[in-house]
Amino acid sequence: MIKAIKGTRDILPPAGARWAAVENEVRDVFRVYHYGEIRTPIFEVSELFSRSVGEETDIVSKEMYTFLDRDGESITLRPENTASVMRAYLEHRLDQNAGISRLYYIGPMFRRERPQRGRYRQFHQIGAEVIGSERPEVDAEVVVMVSDLLRRVEVKDFEILLNSVGCKECRPVFLAALKSSLEPVQANLCSDCQRRATTNPLRVLDCKVPADQEIISTLPSILDHLCSACRGHFDRVQLLLNDQQLPYSVTPRLVRGLDYYTRTTFEFTHGELGAQNSILGGGRYDGLAAQLGSKMPAPGIGFSIGQDRLMLALEKEAASAVSSLDVFIAPMGAEAARLAFSLAHGLRARGVCVEVGPDAKLKRSLELAHKLVARYTLIIGDEETRSGQFLLKEMTTGEQVSVTRELLFSRFTTTTDHGI
Ligand SMILES: [Zn+2]
Ligand SMILES: [Zn+2]
Repeated sequence: MIKAIKGTRDILPPAGARWAAVENEVRDVFRVYHYGEIRTPIFEVSELFSRSVGEETDIVSKEMYTFLDRDGESITLRPENTASVMRAYLEHRLDQNAGISRLYYIGPMFRRERPQRGRYRQFHQIGAEVIGSERPEVDAEVVVMVSDLLRRVEVKDFEILLNSVGCKECRPVFLAALKSSLEPVQANLCSDCQRRATTNPLRVLDCKVPADQEIISTLPSILDHLCSACRGHFDRVQLLLNDQQLPYSVTPRLVRGLDYYTRTTFEFTHGELGAQNSILGGGRYDGLAAQLGSKMPAPGIGFSIGQDRLMLALEKEAASAVSSLDVFIAPMGAEAARLAFSLAHGLRARGVCVEVGPDAKLKRSLELAHKLVARYTLIIGDEETRSGQFLLKEMTTGEQVSVTRELLFSRFTTTTDHGI
C-alpha cells in the first residue's frame, strides 16, 4: 500500500471542519483590521530564501526542499512566507497603493525537519505582514491583533514576550559588547554556542540548553544598548499595549539572528505545548527589502502562527464534537429514494446540510443517523411518498412531527441557524 510521506499527514473529517472554522474566525479578525489576503506561489527561486532567511540558518542549510527544475533553475518549496510576500510587494510596486499594505496568508510551508509531535514537513501557517510603515503604532497594532486572533479561536492561556533588537545604528555596539563578554566564557558553552559565538553571537542568547543558562544570564542585554530612536520606539509600543491592558513580559533574550530584523520582536507562548511552547513569533524587518536587493525602502513587520500547533493547543483546551449534519434523510423503497433525492436538493439550496441514507430498514437508518450525529432525520416510506407527508424526527429529543414538502422547506428557511 502507498502511504503518505513521512512528516506529512492527511487532515480528515471532522478535523478538516475544525481547521476551516479556525480559518474563518481568523479571516474575520483580519477583515476588521483591514488586511487583504495574498496568495503567493508554493515554490520560488531558491535565491529568494537564501538571501532572506539567511545562508547560515538551519532552514536554508539543512531543511529546504530545493531541486533543480528541468531547465536547470534552482527552485525551493517555500519554507516560510515573509520572503515571498516581500517579493510580491516589491515586484508589484504595492508601495504605490494608497496607505500601507496589510497582507495576510493561510497556507502550507515545507521544511525537512526531524519529525516530532506537532511538527510536520508540510506544515501550515497563518501569517500577516504590514509593509510600508516604521511607526510603533503599527507594531502595537499587530501584537494586539494577534492576541485578538488567539482569543477569537479560544486560545486563552497564552503569554506575550516582547523585545527590541535595535537597529543598524545601535546593534553593532551591542554585538561588540556581546562578543567581548562571550570570549572568556565561550569554551564552557555547548558546541552549538561555541560556533555561534563567532558566526552569530545573537543566537547564543536564544540557546535552550539548560547547562548554558547560567552563563547566558550574565551576558549583556540589548535593552541597555538601544539608541534613543529605538528606545523611543520600544517605549511607545509598550505604552500602546499598556493602554489596552494587554499584559506582556519584556524578554531581552528574545532575539533574531538575522541582520535585517530591527526593533520590535515578539513571541506568543502557550502553556499546553510543553517545552516547545512557542505558538507564534514575529517582528519588524526594516532591512529585508534591501537584503533582497531592492533600492526602494519597504519597512515591515509580520508574524506567523503554526496552524498545526495552534490546532493542537485548541484540542488541549476544548475538544467538543460539533454536529455538522442538519438532516439525514432515511428513504425506504425506490420511490422514496427518488423523492429523498429531490427533497435533499431543495434543502441544500436553502443552505441546509443534508445527507441521504441508503434505501434501508428504518431501524438501520436511525442507527446510522445517530452515528453521523444528525440533528434531524426525515423518514420517507411508501406511505409518505403517497401522502406527501413526511416524518421529521429530532434526534436528541426523539420528538417527531409530520411535515409537507412546503412546510419542511419553509421551516428550514425561516430560521437562521437551520434549526426548527
Ligand atoms: Zn537603534
Ligand atoms: Zn548553547
